[in-house]
Amino acid sequence: MSDSLISKYVMPNYGRYDFWPERGQGARVWDKDGREYLDFAGGVAVCPLGHCHPEVVQAISQQAATLIHVSNWYNIRQQGELAQMLVEEVLGIPGKCFFSNSGAEANEGLIKLARKFGVTRPKADGSPRFEIITCTGSFHGRTFATMTATAQEKIHGGFGPLLPGFKYVPFNDAAELKAAVNENTVAILLEPVQGESGVNPVTPEFLRIAAQLRDQHDLLLLLDEVQCGLGRTGELAGWRSIVPGDEILPDAISWAKSIGSGYPLGSFWARDRSVGDAAGTRLCNLLSAGTHGTTYGGSPLACATGMATLKVILRDNLAAHAKAMGAFIAKEALAWKLPVLSEVRAFGFMIGFELNVPLIEANEDFKASGKVPSIWVAKLLMDACLLVVPAGPKVIRWLAPMNTIEAEAKEGLGIMQTVLSKLS
Ligand SMILES: *Cc1c(COP(=O)(O)O)cnc(C)c1O
Repeated sequence: MSDSLISKYVMPNYGRYDFWPERGQGARVWDKDGREYLDFAGGVAVCPLGHCHPEVVQAISQQAATLIHVSNWYNIRQQGELAQMLVEEVLGIPGKCFFSNSGAEANEGLIKLARKFGVTRPKADGSPRFEIITCTGSFHGRTFATMTATAQEKIHGGFGPLLPGFKYVPFNDAAELKAAVNENTVAILLEPVQGESGVNPVTPEFLRIAAQLRDQHDLLLLLDEVQCGLGRTGELAGWRSIVPGDEILPDAISWAKSIGSGYPLGSFWARDRSVGDAAGTRLCNLLSAGTHGTTYGGSPLACATGMATLKVILRDNLAAHAKAMGAFIAKEALAWKLPVLSEVRAFGFMIGFELNVPLIEANEDFKASGKVPSIWVAKLLMDACLLVVPAGPKVIRWLAPMNTIEAEAKEGLGIMQTVLSKLS
């Protein structure tokens, strides 16, 4: 690694593992020396069907040979088809979609939608409302607006001044959320299950209060489902794994990660509801011609890839499969009763294994490593041929393919048990 082209020519903004994947198939990858790994990282929740799923490969090959890209000045048939799947089959709530290239860009869309809403529905004195409330521990991306929306100091460090118009409340503190709403507030943005900070779900109470505040104060309820959406948590809509059914009606939702099987694709959806102005404008039409755009976003190739991915998730009921497997994995892991494992939080194939940090901190090898506990344990698992993702300092995350079968899950559990037993 030290003398590689990566270290010589690529910026050092990632603390990369000395690991060189070369090819992948399903839940497995092989490194440059031919060593086989079970990949329960899946990018970071990016590969819902595992690596190189034949139907995705076929869709990409066929579309690449037919039409890769045309501009958004023309009608891209595949955008309409993919949007229909998202609206009708994933959500079942009328609305419209925009296609971007990434999660951060999808969230930028939510933020711009909220700003436009605040102009359309201004304060009593006619000046726009602009403030968006987000939660501690959140992660919304690395662009300027989404970095600012991300209520984590370690993400902001060195980049101030940040974008104005964001206010942070402690995650799941309903009283603080109520207290944070003022005449400038225009939206509440949250992840139904926070991924990067450690697989932490929103409480049903907090989500309900957020929806109530939306109704009482004419706000937008924005959900970042970039990581937890599209079946990952065991429901096609991530928030429905917290509050089932149609009790909570979000105003807009962002997606990325799983949506493109690794091909760059993101999207956000806005609900077909009135914004409450005199003209009767619909929220899903608020970003009118000329107000938002992208050069690459929603190309025929990106959307064909997204459709192939979603088709398999829907046809094979992978959300329900993920739900059952998540419950099975949590039950097995808890049955080990290992002191090094303090908690397991499973939402389908979004699973957080929380480590007992004091126990790890007492380990001599750990002390010598100079690493944070989650990254150190992830490396031990990698050495044992299981790929996982650290989440915050104390959580190991499984973001396995949603079509992972029980035999593969058991194999991963076996490796976890062996490695964690040595630490207990
Ligand atoms: C990964 C992630 C993002 C950012 O997505 P990018 O594609 O990296 O821009 C935003 N929100 C959540 C919840 C994420 O997990």
